[in-house]
Amino acid sequence: MKKLSDELQKSYYILVFIFSFSCLGLLYIFASYMIKVSSADITTTNIFIDYELNEFTEKLEKNIPIDKLFKGALEECPKIDNVFVVFDYNGKIYSNSDIYPKELDLKEHDGIQNIGFYDYQALHRTIYVKGIEPIDLKIIKDLKGDKIIFFRSIGIAGVWIIFTLIIGIYISKKFYNMFIPPLRNIQEITNKINLDSLDADVKTENNFVEFISIIHSYKNMLSRLKKQTDAQIDFVNSASHELKTPITIIGGFIETIKLGHFKDRKQLEYFIDIIYRETQRLNHLINDLLQLSHIENSSKSQKNIHTISLPNTFNTIISLYKNIAIKKDIVINTNIENVSIVSYISEEWLRTVIGNLIDNAIKYSKPSTSVNVIASIKNLKLIISIEDFGCGIEKNELKKIFHRFYRVDKSRNNKIEGTGLGLSIVKNMILNMKGKIKVKSEINKGSTFVITLNILDIK
Ligand code: ADP
Repeated sequence: MKKLSDELQKSYYILVFIFSFSCLGLLYIFASYMIKVSSADITTTNIFIDYELNEFTEKLEKNIPIDKLFKGALEECPKIDNVFVVFDYNGKIYSNSDIYPKELDLKEHDGIQNIGFYDYQALHRTIYVKGIEPIDLKIIKDLKGDKIIFFRSIGIAGVWIIFTLIIGIYISKKFYNMFIPPLRNIQEITNKINLDSLDADVKTENNFVEFISIIHSYKNMLSRLKKQTDAQIDFVNSASHELKTPITIIGGFIETIKLGHFKDRKQLEYFIDIIYRETQRLNHLINDLLQLSHIENSSKSQKNIHTISLPNTFNTIISLYKNIAIKKDIVINTNIENVSIVSYISEEWLRTVIGNLIDNAIKYSKPSTSVNVIASIKNLKLIISIEDFGCGIEKNELKKIFHRFYRVDKSRNNKIEGTGLGLSIVKNMILNMKGKIKVKSEINKGSTFVITLNILDIK
C-alpha cells in the first residue's frame, strides 16, 4: 500500500534531483565558457604580436632602437584583463605588467597549455626576426579570479541544493501533517453516518474542499441507498399487506364454512364465491409481483431482434378484452398501421403493456363509451396511443400512478378490481425497452396513454 508522506517525499526528491542536475549543467557550461574566452584572449594577443613583430625588420632598418620597438609593441597590444605579454630578448625582459607570474615554469609548446588546475593558460614560443636574436614570447592568462568565481558558484549551488532538500522534506512533512487531521475527520464522519443519521451535521471548518466533496459524495451515495432501501421496505410492506388481505378474507370464510355458520346453500355459495374471487385476486397479485421481479432481473428486450406484425399482435390482445368491454357497452375502436416491425422489442412484453393499458382504459371508462387504440410508425418510432373517456386522473396524481401499489382514490377504486401494479409493470417494461410513456388526462373527461418505442425497420 502506498503512503501519502512517502509519495510526497518522493516527488520532492525528484524535484531536488532535477534542480541539482540543472545546477551542475549550468556550472559545466560556465566552466567551458570561461576556458573558451581565455583561449580566445591568448589567440587574439598572439595574432596581434605576430603582426607587430613583422614590422620589426623594417623599423630596425630605420635605426629605431630595439628597446623602443619592444615597448612600442607592448603598448600597442590590446589591453585584456589578466593577460600578460612577456618578451625575453637576450636575457632582458619586456612585459606589459610588472606583476606577471614570474615563477611560472613554462615549457615551449605549440599550442595553449593549462597550468595547475585552471590556474593559468599560457602560450610559450620563440619568434625569429630577421637581423636580431630569437625572441622568447610568453602570453599568460591568469584564471585565478575566474576560478574563484567558479568555485563560489559551486559552493552557492551546493548550499542551495541542500537548503531546498531540507525545505522539501520540511514542506512534505508539514503538508502530510496537514492532511492527517482532515483524513481522520473523514474517517470519523464516515464511521458515524449511517442510513438513519444522514442529516447529521458534518463539520467542514478547517477541512479541505476536496475532502468535503468526498464526504458530500458519500452522503449522496448513502441517501440514494436510503431511498432504495425505503422503496424496497415500502414495497415489501405493501406487498405483504396486499397479500395478507385476501388470505385473511379466505381464511375467515373457510373457518365460517368449517364451523357450519351459514344459513342455507345460497349463503354457502355466496361465501365460496367470495373465496373464489379473493383467490383470483391473490393469483393476479402474485402474477404481477413475479412479472415485476422478472423485469428487474432481465434486459430481455435488448438482446434479440424480433419481427412483430402490428395488426396480429393488437387484434390478439383486443380479442381478449372484447367480452369485458361488451359487458360495459364499450366499443374498442382500432387504427393499427398494417406493417410488421423489426426491433429489439419483445412481443411478450409489448402484449403485456398494451393489455394492461386497454384493461385500465375499460376498467376506468364510463359505460357506453369507447376506447380508441392507435398504432402508427413515424421516423422509425412505434407510437401507440390508448384513449378512454372515463373518470380521468387528477393532475397531481399523474406521476404517482406509475408507483407500485398506488391506486388513485382507494375508496373509488375499491369497487374496481386491481392490484395497483399494472402501470408500474408497464413503465418498467417500457423503460427497459428504452422507450417512453406519457399520459394526458382530464378529470371526468378521460385519459390518453402514449407510448413511443424505437424500431429498426418496417416490413
Ligand atoms: P390498478 O390495478 O389499480 O389498475 P394500475 O397500476 O394499473 O393499477 O393503475 C394505477 C392507478 O392509476 C389506478 O388505480 C387508477 O386509479 C389509475 N388509472 C390507471 N389507468 C387509468 C385510466 N385509464 N383512467 C383513469 N385512471 C387510471
